[in-house]
Amino acid sequence: MSTQKTAIVTGAARGIGAAVAKRLADDGLAVAVLDLDADACADTVKAITDKGGKALAVGANVADEASVQAAVEKVANELGAPTVVVNNAGITRDNLLFKMTVDDWDAVMAVHLRGAFNVTKAAQKYMVDAGWGRVVNLSSTSALGNRGQVNYSAAKAGMQGFTKTLAIELGKFGVTANAIAPGFIETEMTAATAERIGVPFEDFKKASAAQIPVNRVGVPEDIAHTASFFISEGAGFVSGQVVYVAGGPKD
Ligand code: NAP
Repeated sequence: MSTQKTAIVTGAARGIGAAVAKRLADDGLAVAVLDLDADACADTVKAITDKGGKALAVGANVADEASVQAAVEKVANELGAPTVVVNNAGITRDNLLFKMTVDDWDAVMAVHLRGAFNVTKAAQKYMVDAGWGRVVNLSSTSALGNRGQVNYSAAKAGMQGFTKTLAIELGKFGVTANAIAPGFIETEMTAATAERIGVPFEDFKKASAAQIPVNRVGVPEDIAHTASFFISEGAGFVSGQVVYVAGGPKD
């Protein structure tokens, strides 16, 4: 019987999720590369299989319970029982409070919070059966408050409470849950923010880097490295934690 562990990384077609998926494959895990559109996962899957790793593209909407249940079952059947989950899928619908619509609020809550709930709930039985598991949730420095992101900051603060409660409930089954709260990471998400406020991305990055103690913006691999630690065997006594990966202190 294979001892290879199986991970599900959501929103893994690009950006942080793609980097996490590739890193976990380098760490020896079989990886389900899950995103809204299975075809969009092809590049991430190819990058993994080209290096001799094992990966499966899975199309699912994390906000939809039935879609997630079907996806998690597919992973269990075709790749192996998923005992590692990285809840990374995310969207922004930024606006100042007085201009934000209920749809903007609900869309962000549905992907980040309901999405993480759906995926973790569907996968937890495999972790409990195995007596081992790792959940890593993507929060953000925006959890501490960020102008124009009342929906997103509430969702990302919610991810921290979700993480701590998972740690308390699932610890006795050998499952840890931790959160990563990235600062500015160079991806399509931050490129879209620059475009929305009408600043060229290079200028936006330069201005952000000037505010960051290590004097650079982050890259997806910075987050992948932290995820790799949290899912490692040796991190079994680290649970319910939030690590800010932001090039400097945040609190
Ligand atoms: P990204 O480049 O926009 O990638 C997000 C991915 O999630 C996309 O492939 C997107 O698919 C997918 N996705 C969106 N809604 C989904 C759904 N309902 N079901 C399944 N997949 C879905 O974002 P990123 O910058 O890599 O961010 C990844 C995570 O890190 C997010 O949770 C984000 O909030 C968090 N984060 C990012 C930063 C940053 O600076 N970039 C900072 C802090 C936290 P589509 O392309 O089809 O929409």
